[in-house]
Amino acid sequence: SGTLYIVATPIGNLDDASPRLKTVLSRVDAIACEDTRHSGRFLQHLGIQKPLLSLHEHNEDQRLPALLGRLQGGESLALISDAGTPLLSDPGYPLVRAAVAAGIPLSPIPGPNAAIAALSVSGLPPEPFRFLGFPPRQGGARRKWFQTLAKVPDTLLFYESIHRLGATLADLAEAMGGERPAMVGRELTKRHEQLRHGSLDSLAEWAATASEAKKGEAVIVVGGWSGAPSEEASLDVDALLKALDAELP
Ligand code: SAM
Repeated sequence: SGTLYIVATPIGNLDDASPRLKTVLSRVDAIACEDTRHSGRFLQHLGIQKPLLSLHEHNEDQRLPALLGRLQGGESLALISDAGTPLLSDPGYPLVRAAVAAGIPLSPIPGPNAAIAALSVSGLPPEPFRFLGFPPRQGGARRKWFQTLAKVPDTLLFYESIHRLGATLADLAEAMGGERPAMVGRELTKRHEQLRHGSLDSLAEWAATASEAKKGEAVIVVGGWSGAPSEEASLDVDALLKALDAELP
């Protein structure tokens, strides 16, 4: 069968499209993409004309049999998303999982990813890190979710819609402590790229007041919990002993 290429595309700056990306996209039989209009413009910029197959979160399961059928019939396909690396808060995981199960050859064409780009300039420990995608949209659910992450020692990476950036930073400060070091990477690779390093409190304040914080796209990087790991462990042991106590005769 043909090969399924998972191809990362630019997150703003079109010069980040690698020569290898261009070679692969010009050789495949068809390109699966999230938004055929958006990807059509990108491919036109590269001078590439290919059949485009739409694959987004609402039709991915439906489209799987046809895509797998093409691959099994010997066609090679590329998967791209609107920006960055497919699958990471973007469509593609069901397709890749099914391709692996069907023994279809896969090949990654690596490139931009907003979370990793932000991590690389955050000044926060690069490993271990935890990529969490988008927080829940609804305030109550989001605050609960952040509480469950408050004692994770890993550096935390989030995507967020610019409309919720201020509210989310305020919720993070409340759940994790306003002193916690963090970074917002806004408009990465674009003309108005901005990196804001600071405490969660200072970033929440900036997001609430600065006009630029309401425009563009942003990634949030938060330093991991730095309390003594033994503290958490002993709390767990306490809880366990109590639970046992209640159970035992
Ligand atoms: N798959 C993509 C990737 O590899 O980066 C991410 C797709 S996700 C639907 C879109 C989110 O990524 C945005 O809401 C924002 O949080 C982040 N993002 C994408 N491009 C960005 C950029 N140029 N600067 C900052 N954040 C960006």
